[in-house]
Amino acid sequence: MENVEIKKLTEKFGTPLYAYSKESIVKEYRSFAHALKGIGGRIHYAVKANANVELLKILKREGCSFDVDSEGEMRAATKAGARGKDIIFTGPGKSSEELAFAIQKGCRYIAVESLQEAALIKKLARTLLKKIDVSIRVNPDIRFKTHAYIATGEKKHKFGVSPQNALRIFEFIKQSKYVRLVGINAHIGCQIENPDTRKLLAARLISIALTLNAKGAAIQYIDLGGGFPYDYRHQKTFDAKKYFEPTARLFKRYPQFTLVIEPGRRIVAGAGILLAKVLYTKENYGNHFTVIDAAMNDLIRPALYGATHRIVPLQATSRPKQLTSVVGPICESADFFANRISLPLMKPGEFLAVLDTGAYGFIMSSNYGLRRKPAEILVDQNKYRLIRKRQTYEQAL
Ligand code: PLP
Repeated sequence: MENVEIKKLTEKFGTPLYAYSKESIVKEYRSFAHALKGIGGRIHYAVKANANVELLKILKREGCSFDVDSEGEMRAATKAGARGKDIIFTGPGKSSEELAFAIQKGCRYIAVESLQEAALIKKLARTLLKKIDVSIRVNPDIRFKTHAYIATGEKKHKFGVSPQNALRIFEFIKQSKYVRLVGINAHIGCQIENPDTRKLLAARLISIALTLNAKGAAIQYIDLGGGFPYDYRHQKTFDAKKYFEPTARLFKRYPQFTLVIEPGRRIVAGAGILLAKVLYTKENYGNHFTVIDAAMNDLIRPALYGATHRIVPLQATSRPKQLTSVVGPICESADFFANRISLPLMKPGEFLAVLDTGAYGFIMSSNYGLRRKPAEILVDQNKYRLIRKRQTYEQAL
């Protein structure tokens, strides 16, 4: 990774272990920044993809802003140096405490997801004597091909409100001295590959914003959420500039609006690897297994989404390849990393890397099996440093 020999990290810090490349994060962020240059959009990195404060600091220094989904994520962004205006607060179930925290801190906007939430924000802002800007998250009912668990923009989903209800929310807050509607936002899901789907989303949100502005709103932000695709099989490339072309053409016709995006996965997925040690290999009724010391508690994506991550051994070998399932030590058949992939025969004590685990990796890790969460390392050219210690058993119990 960059100029650091990965095997050295496994020896020094043990496994399981996450390592991230700074260069990769910066490169991905800059490709978004470059793509939006002509249209002057705002980039709010979705902290939920990876909330390590040291990674957030890298993005902050690049000029990136943040999208947070909880008070915890807001605290992480703040710790990385974000001020109120650098943050937008999204999510379908913010508690009263979280909203009060956000109002007091100030945000670019809080995304409202129901009339009840709008009422609570109005009440809290009045009580706290603090002005707050909000956007309305709409559910635009757009379907596209992705995993069912990461589709969020159809009528059946819990997210956002219908355009009719957006109008009701605006009518409800428009007299408030403390709450001002400044945006329309949506996040229709992850892995949106087709640039025309993005443009369709932009067109729907712009049309809703125009309707509301004609009724007296002053909407400035059109926030298209995240969901920029990352191909874990490495068969398709992503050219941010090309991807935004149809959307950019549309925005040029509406200079009164500022485009906002919330990329998460695309910025950090490829920057991360999960390192693990081979514990045992065995064959059961003709099925070969490689048992490693990382588990589904460290990386839940294969079990949760059937996700495919490439796996590579860390030591070069001339041993023959064979079909093997790479599995973890937890007593669950869902505790696997890959089923029947071709790998050179590995021996106990050797290491492998599960690739592209920078997004929704560590952040979704748990203490299941009363296992400790792994450490995280940041690699920067020929240097590396620990950016989160492995949990102790006292912390895990
Ligand atoms: N914005 C919101 C509101 C989200 O819920 C998510 C992910 O679920 C994102 C942005 C980031 O999506 P992605 O990581 O696919 O870019």
